[in-house]
Amino acid sequence: MSATLETDEHKALRSAVAALGKRHGRDFDREALWAEAAKLGYLGVNLPEQYGGGGGGISELSIVLEELGAAGCPLLMMVVSPAICGTVIARFGTDAQKREWLPALADGSRTMAFGITEPDAGSNSHRITTTARKDGTDWLLTGRKVFISGVDIADATLIVGRTEDARTGRLKPCLFIVPRDAEGFSRRQIDMELQAAEKQFELTLDDVRLPADALVGDEDAGLLQLFAGLNPERIMTAAFAIGMGRYALAQAITYARDRTVWNAPIGAHQAVAHPLAQAHIDLELARLMMQKAAALYDAGDDVGAGEAANMAKYAAGEACVKAVDQAVHTLGGNGLTREFGLARLITAARVARIAPVSREMILNYVSHQTLGLPKSY
Ligand SMILES: Cc1cc2nc3c(=O)[nH]c(=O)nc-3n(C[C@H](O)[C@H](O)[C@H](O)COP(=O)(O)OP(=O)(O)OC[C@H]3O[C@@H](n4cnc5c(N)ncnc54)[C@H](O)[C@@H]3O)c2cc1C
Repeated sequence: MSATLETDEHKALRSAVAALGKRHGRDFDREALWAEAAKLGYLGVNLPEQYGGGGGGISELSIVLEELGAAGCPLLMMVVSPAICGTVIARFGTDAQKREWLPALADGSRTMAFGITEPDAGSNSHRITTTARKDGTDWLLTGRKVFISGVDIADATLIVGRTEDARTGRLKPCLFIVPRDAEGFSRRQIDMELQAAEKQFELTLDDVRLPADALVGDEDAGLLQLFAGLNPERIMTAAFAIGMGRYALAQAITYARDRTVWNAPIGAHQAVAHPLAQAHIDLELARLMMQKAAALYDAGDDVGAGEAANMAKYAAGEACVKAVDQAVHTLGGNGLTREFGLARLITAARVARIAPVSREMILNYVSHQTLGLPKSY
């Protein structure tokens, strides 16, 4: 990595996190790693110093997640808790919300999940119907969410809902902090093929009564707040994917150097070596775009970061799927054994292609926003 792209601090952070990841490895205990990463200041590296964070940005947080992933122990909740929820609260929360949540998110003692996806809305988040209505000074929140990660291990979930605009009657998005045990807030675990410590849930909100201060920031700034969280989410998903791709590729390279069935290691055959080299190039390119997106975001350029973050997520998702596929293939039959642990990544790699926004929706975004092509939907 060139000195112009990463500072000495970034490089030091990378190697320190890599060492932590190496100590935990592929059979990691999620809670133990979360606690240790928090204690070392890695989980809150992007949060303001004033609230116990490291005062850095998404550039630093994405380094942490990438390196943990590259060591085989990614912490999925980093995409959600410090990156989306931490960012939204730090930028738009009230002083009381900042004091209550930011130090706890930074030191890892509390975690927050994030719920936007709905069964009947999916990729079309304009169609969400989870609705908040006023009851005195309280809010009553009703709706359904699906595929929400880590709700069982999170102290609260940041739920994207809508309120009715008193003037126009139109529904506008707004964000609510819903405690895990709030009355009327129930969850059902979805039976996923993924082998991960973080589970996905279908949520039902049935007239969940929330105090006025559960609403994040300002009722009229919901859309702005939501968008503020989405760029960090995409950048962090890119970091997640690049880490996983690097992990798979490293296993394949080690194997290809040793495994000999003719008169040279299989890695000497170009049919084995070239796809691995291509996978490496694709991951490096995706990381370059991720760094660009993170740099733009940290510099306060939300619009510029939007395009770069989408492209980074797309490139990283595709690079990860290809790297995992080639890694599994390189190990022959061993690619499918539990012992080598690569086959389970075939499913895991697909997550970065579909969430938080699918490959096709990014291609739509680039077609319309960047290329100015007309919309079909
Ligand atoms: C492991 C996992 C964890 C997740 N965690 C969370 C979470 O913590 N919080 C949360 O809110 N959500 C989460 N999600 C949900 C995720 O963000 C959604 O799955 C994703 O946004 C896609 O929505 P959908 O599944 O409803 O697919 P759909 O919207 O039904 O799309 C299905 C297919 O149609 C394609 N498609 C749809 N519309 C178009 C179009 N206009 N043009 C071209 N193609 C189109 C899509 O690309 C996709 O391939 C998670 C999902 C997974 C798998």
